[in-house]
Amino acid sequence: MHNNYPKLFTPLDLGFTQLDNRIVMGSMHTGLEDGNHHKELAAYFCERARGGVGLMVTGGYAPNIAGWVKPFAGMLVSSRAAKKHKRVTDAVHAEGGKLAMQILHAGRYAYHPLAVGPSKIKSPISPFMPRELSARGVEKQIAAFVRCAVLAREAGYDGVEIMGSEGYLINEFLVEHTNQRNDEWGGSYANRMRFALEIVQRTREAVGEDFIIIYRLSVIDLIPQGSSWEEVVQLAKGVEAAGATIINSGIGWHEARIPTIATSVPRAAFTWVTHKLKQEVSVPVITSNRINTPEVAEKVLADGDADMVSMARPFLADPEFAIKAKQNRSDEINTCIACNQACLDHTFSSKTSTCLVNPRACHETELNYHPANKKKSIAVVGAGPAGLSAATVLAGRGHQVDLYDAASEIGGQLNMAKKIPGKEEFHETLRYYQRQIELTGVSLRLNTLVEPSMLTGYDEVIVATGVSPRNPKIPGQDHTQVLSYIDVLRYEVPVGERVVIIGAGGIGFDVAEFLIHSESSPDTLDLSSWLSVWGVADPEDARGGVMPMNFPKSPREITLMQRSSGKPGAKLGKTTGWIHRSTLKQSGVAMIGGLTYDEISGSGVKVTFDGQGDETFPADHVILCAGQVPNRELYDALSKREGSQVHLIGGAHEASELDAKRAINQGSRLAARL
Ligand code: FAD
Ligand code: NAP
Ligand code: SF4
Repeated sequence: MHNNYPKLFTPLDLGFTQLDNRIVMGSMHTGLEDGNHHKELAAYFCERARGGVGLMVTGGYAPNIAGWVKPFAGMLVSSRAAKKHKRVTDAVHAEGGKLAMQILHAGRYAYHPLAVGPSKIKSPISPFMPRELSARGVEKQIAAFVRCAVLAREAGYDGVEIMGSEGYLINEFLVEHTNQRNDEWGGSYANRMRFALEIVQRTREAVGEDFIIIYRLSVIDLIPQGSSWEEVVQLAKGVEAAGATIINSGIGWHEARIPTIATSVPRAAFTWVTHKLKQEVSVPVITSNRINTPEVAEKVLADGDADMVSMARPFLADPEFAIKAKQNRSDEINTCIACNQACLDHTFSSKTSTCLVNPRACHETELNYHPANKKKSIAVVGAGPAGLSAATVLAGRGHQVDLYDAASEIGGQLNMAKKIPGKEEFHETLRYYQRQIELTGVSLRLNTLVEPSMLTGYDEVIVATGVSPRNPKIPGQDHTQVLSYIDVLRYEVPVGERVVIIGAGGIGFDVAEFLIHSESSPDTLDLSSWLSVWGVADPEDARGGVMPMNFPKSPREITLMQRSSGKPGAKLGKTTGWIHRSTLKQSGVAMIGGLTYDEISGSGVKVTFDGQGDETFPADHVILCAGQVPNRELYDALSKREGSQVHLIGGAHEASELDAKRAINQGSRLAARL
């Protein structure tokens, strides 16, 4: 069969071993690295190995306790532990896969009191002050890296990835901002990069020639005092000479205030930096960040930006990404929408990672969609994410499924979400479900408002009728200038220049984001505009690749309000909330809280501040984004009736703290059981 992605599926010969294709599954912490979950890890990696990825990299393992990212994080320090890893590596090899282990020393990013760093300088993202390493301490860290790599080989891994980017220990030695030493490990750049080079060189000596060493190198630090381009190139050449097999691109330190992987970052936003590096070294280079479709990956390779493409989260979203692409079935890929909601946000909340669009990710041993024992006739009402996931999993298992929706298209509220600038990836989720409906044979009945009387003769009925906007009962809210988020987003009612948004939750923020854009605003999907807005420079022109940000001023004067006094948007995603807050702030949106709504009138919104008097905010339009309540009328009527089993999922079940992650998870889990 002719393959649409010839570059992607060209094998890569590393001399001592060959990789089947140019696809790397990049390192991700899953929360399973603590040493007690080898069975779960084996299932997770095996599924992806069967899915045809060329090379996988594990989440980071610390080489010693000081290097832990957080207390009791995964580490590899003994032969006993290496034996347990063999359960994973043997299983992966039996599936024909290749797996490298990432060695990650957290340095001053460590979230524990035993943190160490080149200098005693606290990071902005950990409360712990690192201890400055003595010269002996530096040697001990190098020895720990080497021992860890030797153990990884003993454990059966095909290689290691030495984590030298994202602002972790090795990276901290490289820049003066975090390395103020004046011994042989600090001062000149040659001294500052010695730590990295010694690790690579001594690792190569210890593991032999026939073992993959990937060095993850920060090609653009995205912090003001980051590495210059000259230094990046010098390091890359040094790493190559020291024995690295492959150089992988790291983009931005964790403390950088520029988004690097969120959904609002345009696809393949940083491959141009890898392209620059590729001209300077002879070893294969890997590029990464926001590459989530085979089309984009192929283009990156065809443009000569890199020799391999690393995609991490796309393999949570779909373990069969590679094989579907190889078989020209890319329209069946469940695309990672870069939301971070179930992967990185989970990591930062110490929960096992999974995926918003694929709740099986990292749960392969407990959530499985086995063929049904007995074929049932099932009605699913509501084709939002809850109903879509339930219907397609059920039909995939062999049930006969009728999926109803009152609307003329599938997707429910995701049809509003996809209109928010920077959230366009939701289109892919809807494309995926549309294709699944066709593939699994779900009978789709759109434009059908379901009444209880229509649901007779089914073995099971699933009610996924979603939510309605909450009525905040503010005096004057019936005034014509008051709109709901549905008026603005679904019906695109024109909105005036002075706007008050009532409610600063996820939807209030999204409505504000929608309204700071106008037809003349820079296109959020256009890479050069995005780089300019966020102040990303060519690292050859500015150290660290950072220049002043350049947000366009909002065409509207917007005030986002909440009654509570905490930080607006406090419940937004842990790893993305700051991006939304920063975008609105830079665009001039005012955010205020600690108030009571007194009245909406022709002159605007009158509020009283907690104990500090009142104020009227003039507004051409007031937009209600005051949360949501479940749509349960159908369920209430059905549950009074004898006969079929009725189930309630998604927002119709519980509207509070609802999101698409919970809706899809609940729909899939119910469908796995019936
Ligand atoms: P819904 O999506 O509300 O779907 C319910 C469906 O049922 C609708 O299509 C409706 O037409 C249909 N229906 C109702 N009654 C009947 C009936 N009687 N007969 C037939 N059909 C009926 N979540 C995230 O996780 N991440 C985000 O970034 C995100 N962004 C968002 C941005 C916006 C602007 C909005 C509005 C929401 C966003 N959400 C986001 C929330 C997410 O969309 C919802 O949590 C999710 O859609 C709820 O899924 P659901 O299937 O329960 O309900
Ligand atoms: P939400 O996040 O719960 O926010 C509701 C907002 O309304 C809050 O700011 C709340 O603040 C205010 N509010 C609540 N009751 C009110 C009342 N009676 N009168 C006036 N204001 C009231 O809900 P949402 O914005 O509707 O979002 C729905 C769900 O979609 C969320 O749970 C969210 O997870 C999901 N979503 C997620 C994203 C994302 O990016 N991840 C984006 C959009 C939506 P006060 O009570 O302080 O006034
Ligand atoms: Fe991608 Fe979101 Fe899934 Fe994470 S949770 S893998 S970002 S789709």
